[in-house]
Amino acid sequence: MGFVKTRDISREIRERCGVFAVVGHPKASELCYYGLYALQHRGQESAGIAVLNGGRIQTKKGMGLVADVFTKDDIVRLRGGSALAHVRYSNVGDEGGIEDAQPISVKMWQGQMAFAHNGNLINAPRLRARLEQDGSIFQTTSDCEVIPHLMAKSGLNDPVKALIKSLSDVRGAYSLCVLTSKGVIAAKDPHGVRPLCLGKLDGAYIICSETCALDAVGAEFIREIDPGEVVFIEEAEHPGSDVGRAKPPVSCYIDGARGKRGMDLCVFEFIYFARPDSDLYGINVHAARKALGRRLAQKDSLSADLVMGIPDSSLSAATGYAEEAGIPYEMGIVKNRYIGRTFIAPTQPLRELGVKIKINPLRKVVSGKRVVMVDDSMVRGTTSKYLVGLLKAAGAKEVHVRISSPPYRFPCFYGIDTSSSGELIAAEKTQEQIRELIGADSLAFLDVEDLEEILGRRAGNLCTACFTGKYPIPLEGEYR
Ligand code: SF4
Repeated sequence: MGFVKTRDISREIRERCGVFAVVGHPKASELCYYGLYALQHRGQESAGIAVLNGGRIQTKKGMGLVADVFTKDDIVRLRGGSALAHVRYSNVGDEGGIEDAQPISVKMWQGQMAFAHNGNLINAPRLRARLEQDGSIFQTTSDCEVIPHLMAKSGLNDPVKALIKSLSDVRGAYSLCVLTSKGVIAAKDPHGVRPLCLGKLDGAYIICSETCALDAVGAEFIREIDPGEVVFIEEAEHPGSDVGRAKPPVSCYIDGARGKRGMDLCVFEFIYFARPDSDLYGINVHAARKALGRRLAQKDSLSADLVMGIPDSSLSAATGYAEEAGIPYEMGIVKNRYIGRTFIAPTQPLRELGVKIKINPLRKVVSGKRVVMVDDSMVRGTTSKYLVGLLKAAGAKEVHVRISSPPYRFPCFYGIDTSSSGELIAAEKTQEQIRELIGADSLAFLDVEDLEEILGRRAGNLCTACFTGKYPIPLEGEYR
């Protein structure tokens, strides 16, 4: 028995990152710390905070959860009026060591800067190969690192201009923040795939992945960053080094991206990634999930004794289903919330003895019952199969699986860790074959049209490529 990396049984897909930046607040690093706590669901592999103090950037980062990486003394030492913070989850096959933890701090001829992003740059391998042939030396395996190299070669002294020029060469889905010697530059890709919003706290500004992080620090939501928008927020002039206040944000756009607001936002942010207390383009994530659950029930004519959701991301959809179907909502499974990403995994003999340290069914609730098990997504099918088995072993008479999204058929290349299409259960199997494989008594999914009707009406166009194979940003090289 040893310390091993394991996949969370309830999570077959993972968000890769969350960002949180502050400009002009005397407690910038403290705000970042609490902001990262609120964004912990977006990445549990590493965390980092970079602060700007007297024109100098100081960084602390480490592997593990936010609570493991920073001590109280670290936060006290990270004094400064502006800061940039990041939580990360590495991709499959990428060990994601400390060198890849963000923010990535670099000293360039334009000054010292720190970079943090959420997403994936489709053409990073090609850009990196070209830059390396031209003599650039990379310190990390992160796709984000091509951006400072492009900026260094841009010939432009002004970091905002250098960044805009560099981003016009970059293709992919990204929400990026750069801490410079003057403040923070934030940018969202022209398709607006990953979320990024702007908030305000006293005289300071905050830019972060989700509105739940604004709530966590008591900040007021101002607006979403537009697709293709680059926002620069400069610290106000002040004689001290760690006093707050910021100048109003100044916006410009990458290439001709202006006017593409809401275009191609990742639909999975609604289905699964974002926290239920976050709002995306004015839509509350919990309410959206509930509406998806309601739609599942509207398309159903099932007789059952109880409806249950898989904690935590499916609970909203399950309540929507239960309300619409008029079937009692129950807690059928309990998840242990105190297990981090790394833990001592039970060995095979212990597993065979029934050691269930992460998830446990409520035998007295499900025994002898016809159960509707609502889950938000099905990727490889292994989780569904395991959960159906657990419920049946706990005495459930029937288990009907309802998925509040369509069958996941195509891999994501925009910053989400899934699998190659060979591992995606719906890529090659029919619905009936999947039902049989997971051992359910019945199985139903939503359609892409349901998502578009319920979410797209207000959010604008949505990326649904993992369901449809229609990738809004053209793929290239190894991503094709
Ligand atoms: S392919 Fe799927 S997971 Fe990836 S960005 Fe598009 S909707 Fe989101």
